[in-house]
Amino acid sequence: GAKDEGRNHFKYFTQEMNLALIERLGMERDLRRAVANDEFCLFYQPVVDMESGEVTSLEALLRWQDPEQGLVSPVRFIPVAEDMGLMGELGQWVMDKALADLARLHAMGFGLSMAINVSACQCHCKRQSLDEQLRSALSRHGIAPRHLHVEITESLLLDNSHHCLETLNNIRDLGCAIYLDDFGTGYSSLSYLKKFPISAIKIDKSFVEQLPGCESDASLVRAIVNMGKSLGMKLVAEGIESKDQQAFLQALGSQFGQGYLYSRPLPFDELLPWLERRQHSSSDGFACQNS
Ligand code: C2E
Ligand code: MG
Ligand code: MG
Ligand code: MG
Repeated sequence: GAKDEGRNHFKYFTQEMNLALIERLGMERDLRRAVANDEFCLFYQPVVDMESGEVTSLEALLRWQDPEQGLVSPVRFIPVAEDMGLMGELGQWVMDKALADLARLHAMGFGLSMAINVSACQCHCKRQSLDEQLRSALSRHGIAPRHLHVEITESLLLDNSHHCLETLNNIRDLGCAIYLDDFGTGYSSLSYLKKFPISAIKIDKSFVEQLPGCESDASLVRAIVNMGKSLGMKLVAEGIESKDQQAFLQALGSQFGQGYLYSRPLPFDELLPWLERRQHSSSDGFACQNS
């Protein structure tokens, strides 16, 4: 009867819930072990000045090397790490590792900049504020602040706290540029663009994917580029996979580009030969050390 059916639904529901819960608890346990055992690494993806062809910077992208699952995407584990309160520690590790590798690249004569992604919770930390963490990491590794870009997402701005605005202003005053990542996918209002110290906009790859064919995406990108330019911001297009996309974005006025067309994110050991090959094969060369 109806009573049995209800019971069956309940049973089905709890089974599904149990599965999700077990999976989640498993990931939490594995992540705790991963932090203890140093199972993380960074991949680096080049950002190219489409006008000159030069590689100007690298974006550090976090990977989890799980002994059983292999490389785990940050899209899967970062939200869990954030919920668990692990992102403060992990973010600090990212900062340190990315700057250590950048110092190695500078020592080899590659005058590149580095971009790191930060979670909202890193900006909220009051024990040691994010700008203080950045300042001390930069000095530990002997890197000039102008060589570090900090990528934030719109969700961080939404939260609208005074502490957050102050932290971002301090980061800007320190000399690091703040990039607004995944632009156009969040819910923030455009007024945030003038309230917060944003130097550059990264056009989300979802708007780039169907270019140049898709007229509505083309209109959106055109509007984003024009708005960004009139506010004096740099523009970086993400997810460029084809020459057509590159030509189109460049024609619209996005100066910088990033995507599989140039390179996938690479582990440091593969990045070096990539940079060397590119330096030798193109007459473009690289940005000089003090640019
Ligand atoms: P994001 O910062 O927007 O990074 C760009 C993502 O697009 C990367 O995914 C990159 O591998 C991917 N991508 C680059 N070029 C192409 C392309 O041509 N086509 C396509 N389809 N994809 C491309 P990834 O590495 O999986 O990272 C995903 C997101 O995880 C990042 O998005 C970022 O929001 C977050 N993330 C990564 N590392 C960190 C970190 O250290 N800290 C924090 N808080 N978040 C991170
Ligand atoms: Mg990013
Ligand atoms: Mg992005
Ligand atoms: Mg993204």
